[in-house]
Amino acid sequence: MLKMETVGEIFQELCSYLRIKRRVESVSELFAKQTSNSNRVEIASQLLKEHNLIATPGRYLRGNEKSLTRSIDLRNSGNKAFQKKDDKTALMLYTQSIATAPFPSMSKISNEELETDFAENEDDTSVALALALANRSAVLFSMSNYEACLSDIKQAMKYNYPNKLLYKLFERQGKCFQALGNLKSAMESLFDARKWLFSASALTEEKKETIRLEIENFVQHLANSKTTEISHSLQIEQPLLPSCSYGKNHEILCASDCVELKFIPEMGRYIVATRDIRPGDVLVVEKPFASVLLPDCYWTHCYNCLQPSQSLLPCYHCSTVMYCSEKCRTSSWDNSHYIDCPMLDILQKLKIGNMSFLALRIVILVCKCQDIQSLITSLEDEGKCIDRNRGFNNNGTYSSSDYSAIYWLVGNTEKREVGDLFRRAVTAACILNCLETMTDLFSVDTSSSPPDITNYKLLVGGLLLRHLQNLPCNAHEVSGLVRSETRTLKDGVPVWKSVEVGAAAHAVLSLLNHSCDPNVVRHSYQGDTAVLRAIRPIAKGEQVLDNYGYHYALHDRTERKSHLETQYHFTCMCVACTEDWPSYNLLPNINPIYLCARCRCILPALPVDPTGIRFTTCTNCSESHDMTDIISKIETSSEEFCQNLEHVVSGEGCDWEGLAQKLVCHLQLLDKFIQRPWKEYNDCQEAIKQCFAMTANCYK
Ligand SMILES: [Zn+2]
Ligand SMILES: [Zn+2]
Ligand SMILES: [Zn+2]
Ligand SMILES: [Zn+2]
Repeated sequence: MLKMETVGEIFQELCSYLRIKRRVESVSELFAKQTSNSNRVEIASQLLKEHNLIATPGRYLRGNEKSLTRSIDLRNSGNKAFQKKDDKTALMLYTQSIATAPFPSMSKISNEELETDFAENEDDTSVALALALANRSAVLFSMSNYEACLSDIKQAMKYNYPNKLLYKLFERQGKCFQALGNLKSAMESLFDARKWLFSASALTEEKKETIRLEIENFVQHLANSKTTEISHSLQIEQPLLPSCSYGKNHEILCASDCVELKFIPEMGRYIVATRDIRPGDVLVVEKPFASVLLPDCYWTHCYNCLQPSQSLLPCYHCSTVMYCSEKCRTSSWDNSHYIDCPMLDILQKLKIGNMSFLALRIVILVCKCQDIQSLITSLEDEGKCIDRNRGFNNNGTYSSSDYSAIYWLVGNTEKREVGDLFRRAVTAACILNCLETMTDLFSVDTSSSPPDITNYKLLVGGLLLRHLQNLPCNAHEVSGLVRSETRTLKDGVPVWKSVEVGAAAHAVLSLLNHSCDPNVVRHSYQGDTAVLRAIRPIAKGEQVLDNYGYHYALHDRTERKSHLETQYHFTCMCVACTEDWPSYNLLPNINPIYLCARCRCILPALPVDPTGIRFTTCTNCSESHDMTDIISKIETSSEEFCQNLEHVVSGEGCDWEGLAQKLVCHLQLLDKFIQRPWKEYNDCQEAIKQCFAMTANCYK
């Protein structure tokens, strides 16, 4: 097999071939003339083939099949880590061992006579999975994750765990049930442990007797325990999904009624508030059309629902991805994994990038459900003119689950340079090639009339390239909080940090324009569902503005400008850009500039009155203001804010919603009376965001 290259290297190589052959100009010219994505991918595919840079069947060898030897190696490394009490490493290694272990053939399991102990050899294919599961259950027990431990024990028993060792598993099961307060099941498990002790062929009679006595003692102990013991569950509680404030929008199905979609030809579509909105109000709750788990999380999160789990189940066929439940395993396979299963590790090695994984997922979902040719024809018909309702369905609604909304996301094709398009076309051609050579997507059912496979491939390639352009401008990250072990506050309190676990295509969130000083914030709930909340007061008629990853407090104006122009193809005209607000460390925090509560204009500097009375008149609306009470009110509120901030930073369990509401009151006060930028305003927004993050995906 040839050395595995990345798509970036393949692209570089192709470019140098073209240079050597003096074809750069002619190819650029040809490429620039193309108006269809399918043709662009076809040209890229042709060039890759000519220069022998694309896989012929068999060039890419599937590398993610189950492997007994690898599974055993990983399990042995896991054992070493566990002996050293390094539970975290052991957990990871056992999980990988489980992912890699071959499934015992089902016939063998069903023929098994309970009393025979055929699995004498622990290196046998029939027990590798069970042994890895059982070993992981021991780590999970040591980590006090009893629910996950019980799940692994159940799986180990299902997959052929050797009878001679079963007593150990039942004993562990009993201890888990005890820890969870389920004494009846604990007792039953111990009776089973006692029963299976007779099959423990590797033990001497003496040793068996010792264990039997231990079990007896434990049974006695349970019998004496009070059955009223409270059951405490350690299961990660599914955070509740918030619902939209002010009722549902009838046009944009997952949005609140407090926003609406507007359109001006020069500006395109945008979202505005239909009423005054408070910070913390929920504007959108959106399940994406599609989402993908990032490869870095394959061994810690479910490939289907993107939720973390310590007792992940393996895919039946590959050693790449895992699932939190049987349900997720089945649904993932039926929806898309039946196609991408054999090619995932090759795509990882090709380093195609997160957006390519998401583009591929979307294309697989679309191919599964419909005849692409007629789908594209009808989408093109409906969306021919750029108008407000592009991507809407026949009922006049804009729905996150409609492909048309994703199809019509802005890709900025006409603003891209030929080189940019060419590079993306090469990536699409490489992915298309993997689909051709490694999966059944294009295999023809010869019994029916043969469809035009060449055309089908071109359409799929075209869709891939379409999404390789529109996702980088529109996709959102899926994230969650984890306790950071490396970063701690001075008194040893761990700091929470946000980690990216996936990428998702949200049709409604994609309607939002950018500001370096956004008025909304996104959080991920229950895996990939996005919740959009206001992060400062939004007045009726004001545009709702998200942040595309470049915030004024974190990135300076030049940096923001260059990123927004290259990635999103626009020049930002937000207030932070036009007024060149300073970044976080330089934000003003003394001598606030006060605003007129009536017209929001800046008030003249306050005279220092020896009697303490601070009186001023608005030059704009002539309203007189006695600022004495207001200033003292802000001071009191600021003191309270500092205390609340400590709560937030400590990250210790509390009523996050309640705390957020207190912070919102402070923010409203600052918003009303103090001119921005203002450091405390920024801190308060961050604190509110953190509170909501604690109610969202949060991996304790
Ligand atoms: Zn799941
Ligand atoms: Zn698989
Ligand atoms: Zn800006
Ligand atoms: Zn005024």
